[in-house]
Amino acid sequence: MNLGGSAFALRCLHCDAVYLPDQVSYYCPNCELDGAFDLVYDYADLGCRFIKSVQSRDTFDMWRYASVLPTSPEFTPHLHTGGSPLYKLHNSGPGRIFIKDDSRNPSGSLKDRASALAVALAAEMGVKTIAAASTGNAAAALACMSAGIGIRCIIFSPTSATREKLAQIRAYGAEVVKVEGGYDEAFAACHAACKEHGWYNRSTGINSYMSEGKKTVAFEICEQMQWHVPDRIFVPVGNGCIVGAIYKGFHELLLMGITNHMPKIMGVQATGSNFMYRAWKAGQGPHAPHAQPSATSASSISVALPRDRIKALRAVEATGGEFIVVNDTQIFQAILDLARSGGVFAEPGAAAAYAGLRQWSTLSSDETAVVLVTGSGLKDIGGLLDSGILDATSKSKPRESSRGEELPSASRAVLNPPIRRHLCAVPRISVTPTALDLDASAGSSSAHFSELAEAPANTHHTML
Ligand SMILES: [Zn+2]
Repeated sequence: MNLGGSAFALRCLHCDAVYLPDQVSYYCPNCELDGAFDLVYDYADLGCRFIKSVQSRDTFDMWRYASVLPTSPEFTPHLHTGGSPLYKLHNSGPGRIFIKDDSRNPSGSLKDRASALAVALAAEMGVKTIAAASTGNAAAALACMSAGIGIRCIIFSPTSATREKLAQIRAYGAEVVKVEGGYDEAFAACHAACKEHGWYNRSTGINSYMSEGKKTVAFEICEQMQWHVPDRIFVPVGNGCIVGAIYKGFHELLLMGITNHMPKIMGVQATGSNFMYRAWKAGQGPHAPHAQPSATSASSISVALPRDRIKALRAVEATGGEFIVVNDTQIFQAILDLARSGGVFAEPGAAAAYAGLRQWSTLSSDETAVVLVTGSGLKDIGGLLDSGILDATSKSKPRESSRGEELPSASRAVLNPPIRRHLCAVPRISVTPTALDLDASAGSSSAHFSELAEAPANTHHTML
């Protein structure tokens, strides 16, 4: 593709039109809400210097991948974003399971990666006000990053937004515009206001640049695995932006020649918010199913009509993955399983990915799976309390002691996951051209990875 001297071009996935960045804003003028841009770089050129560029940065954060990001480093916010830990889940069952804990970002969710990029882009354009429609995490992330860089932030919030999430948004100093109705009404109000006032719109689904920030989590996972690719990655799906970005990140590594295959992407939805699952099952494209009212307590993945459905469907279909649905009981049980077996406290929408893995449960012995935890459990304490699952478990005795004291069988089923698991940190290993050569001739990535995770004997490494 001829980039005409630009660092990247924008290709619409709906009408296939291609633009240079100075020709359009962040959405396709032909398709507007029905379209979605892919940012396309010169991958052949980038592949030659990507690893060197990554290694030249001392800080383990999202900006170490700046050579494949659409902004200049001088505008990036100072808040440490990305660089989250990857834990190995000790698992007596088949396969290897890793937890990518992206709740460790400044505002407590993966959305910080997109919002950090959004404020950097807005600052680069000289825009003084940035806005978004959101029920929670994206808004908190934008409010946080706006405070970090010192620009005005306006959040269009539906009446369904929880008191707790609004409190976090307001604590960062963002202005909140309450919109009568649900997310769709807030989204439309934000879109109209941004058009009228020239504000920068960070809303998921209209701003195609947001995938670029989120894709850095895929780069990180791969780097933490010494540029090896997991066999499967389980991702919670609401609007579909994160799962689409996971695909983009791994696909770019493939295009640059850093890796040699894609992971199977497993999108996990709540039973009561299952548009993408229905679209995938029907096999008639991302616009075919009718939107149905959403009904799940996992608020961050509660979406009637996913805004990034084109990218979400592509992520699963193009990699041979699957969409999975899990009910709210499974989701809240997954919160306890993750928290009690390793100390990772996920919000319901994030724990859905782990619930999806447990339900799918057909990992083979030579497979490696990564579960993406996208948001902190501290985001939705009210939801956890309202679920009743803590009351149910508090009626039981404390879990098995370190001396192996037996629990009554009824409570053991609730308190202990089927397989006892513990987490350990995976070392981040500095990458050398030698590692790339090994990758190019790789046999079993999981066998190699196991070795790296447990005994990085000959390699300089840093514990995360
Ligand atoms: Zn288009």
